[in-house]
This record gives sequence, structure tokens and C-alpha cells, in this order.
Amino acid sequence: MSNEQEAPNGECEVQTEQAAEKRVGCAHYKRRAKFVTPCCNKLYMCRYCHDENEEHYFNRKSVTELICTECDTRQKVQAECENCGVRFGKYTCLICNLFDDEDKRQYHCDGCGICRVGGRDRFFHCERCNMCLPVQLQRVGHRCVENVSRSNCPVCLEDIHTSRIPCHIPDCGHLLHRPCFEQLLHSGHYACPTCQTSMIDMSNLWNYLDSEVAATPMPPEYADYKATILCKDCHKLSTVKFHVVGLKCQHCGAYNTCQTNGFHKESSSSSSEAGDSSTSTSSSRSRSASGGAGGGGGETTTAGRGTEPSGETDLPRANPMDEPPQA
Ligand SMILES: [Zn+2]
Ligand SMILES: [Zn+2]
Ligand SMILES: [Zn+2]
Ligand SMILES: [Zn+2]
Ligand SMILES: [Zn+2]
Ligand SMILES: [Zn+2]
Ligand SMILES: [Zn+2]
Ligand SMILES: [Zn+2]
Repeated sequence: MSNEQEAPNGECEVQTEQAAEKRVGCAHYKRRAKFVTPCCNKLYMCRYCHDENEEHYFNRKSVTELICTECDTRQKVQAECENCGVRFGKYTCLICNLFDDEDKRQYHCDGCGICRVGGRDRFFHCERCNMCLPVQLQRVGHRCVENVSRSNCPVCLEDIHTSRIPCHIPDCGHLLHRPCFEQLLHSGHYACPTCQTSMIDMSNLWNYLDSEVAATPMPPEYADYKATILCKDCHKLSTVKFHVVGLKCQHCGAYNTCQTNGFHKESSSSSSEAGDSSTSTSSSRSRSASGGAGGGGGETTTAGRGTEPSGETDLPRANPMDEPPQA
């Protein structure tokens, strides 16, 4: 529609070097070319500008022609203008048809098939996870989850692999967008939505629950009751004294546990185990199942919110341990 007007700031930026330096391109990229979009035969600075204005999606790998914004010459996709010689972007990837003057430490990953931001030296491509991971994880090792970044975010159900939003990688390896992760923490959910493993260091909350357990004696008639629990953090079974506040894993100390077969008297002569379990365990079950969310959410040091809007595009900041976003 508005392609005659062309995208903001496309024109009249040639008076001084400085002015041209200041703003070329669009809200998403600093570049000196407009794409001829084959899907609708229009001109757009980038695929995001296209997708915001059209009812269909633009595949940037389908582009064959562009127009130099310095001299208006239409030409095939290439790194430099064949007429005026300007470089369309300091960073150029002719596989992705990506041009960007802004240094975001872009690199093209063959395994991912896209350009990412953050520096090739800081990430490696894990063939099994089929994603780029921080090099720190190459040193200390990580839990491979086959093709993990090809599934959608379990919180917002949107794409992860080609997202421009950074993705948090919890220890269990199940990715979720960083803002979605922070939103979960904010609402008191500390367990991975996919596998229920704690996503952050929970030791403060576990210590708090230890003191709650110590301060809350169980009625004497429960003294002999035991529960068999499965830990969702270390995946081990243990048998512990039953307590309404929570059931603590004997291996790793987590309260992120669930009962496997209800609670029962230690030397149960003939009393049925299953029968006992149904009534009074529910409160502790739901409490521990939610990763201790009810217990003392306020007591935990859930990592700070740390989302300052980053300059021009409101993309959340990536943590060094995130999967690098798409460039
Ligand atoms: Zn189109
Ligand atoms: Zn040109
Ligand atoms: Zn690329
Ligand atoms: Zn990769
Ligand atoms: Zn892996
Ligand atoms: Zn999400
Ligand atoms: Zn998980
Ligand atoms: Zn455990």
C-alpha cells in the first residue's frame, strides 16, 4: 500500500555522513536496501515491517531483488550496490538475506540455518539439541534434549527456534522465552512447565520450609506415618516422615516432591496403605507439587526482574546463558 511513501527515513538522509549514519533502515535493522517482496511485489525494509503491514508472512530467503536506498538502483541481492558501491549492511548474510549496520555480534549458524546475535565465539551448536548453546555449557556439560528448540515455548506456545526473543535454558534443558520464564517466577512458579524440575536455585525456600517443618510439630498420632516420595529435582525415591508442610527429598534436600503411594504407618500391621492416603495428604501434595509456591514465595530470592527495555526495539535483554536470539 504505502510503498510509494517508502519506509520511515528511507529518503533524504544523504546530506551529511552523520545524518546518514544516524538513521538508515527501519525500526528493526539499520540497512541501505529495500527488499522487493516476491509474495506481494512491494518494497519493504525488512520482513518484520512487511509482516506488520500485510496479512501474510514474508520469507526472507525468497527475496531475489532489492533496491539500494542510496541511489534507488534495483538489482539482484548482493552485498554491495552495483551502481553506487554502498555496502547494504556492515553485517551481511546472503543465505538469510540479512543486512545490518548495527553490530549485534551477528553470526550465521549452519546448524540452525539462521543468523543469531551474540557472537560466534560465545556459542556452539549442539547437534543433538539442534540449537546454539552458550560455550559455558560445552565446558560444564548440559542435558541434551533432542531437537529441543524446535518445539514451542510451553508458556506462550510461540516459536522458539527462530524467535527474536532470548530463550532461557533451565538446567533440565527445556527452553522457554526469557520473559515467559520471568513471568512464571513472578507468579510463584519455579518448576519447569515441561518436566516439573526446579528452574532456579531453591535452597532459600527449602531452608525456609525446613524451619517451618521444625516449627510445626505433627500431632502425635502421625508420629509413625511415613511417605514414599519421588523427587522431581533429582528423580530419586525416598521414604520420609509424613509432614503437612512438605516432604523433603533425602537425597538432594528439595521439597519439590510428590508421593508415590500415599503415606502409611511405618510398621503397618494390617492397615491398608492406599486407604489412608486419600484423605489428608492432599494439602501437602499440592503444596509440594507446585514447587513450594504456597510455602514461602516471598522468602525466595527469585532472580531480579532485570528487564530493562533495550533501546530502539523493545526486545528483552539476553542473559549470557540464554540461547542467542535470531538476528
Ligand atoms: Zn508480501
Ligand atoms: Zn546504490
Ligand atoms: Zn544467516
Ligand atoms: Zn546453531
Ligand atoms: Zn545438547
Ligand atoms: Zn514464551
Ligand atoms: Zn524441564
Ligand atoms: Zn531430590
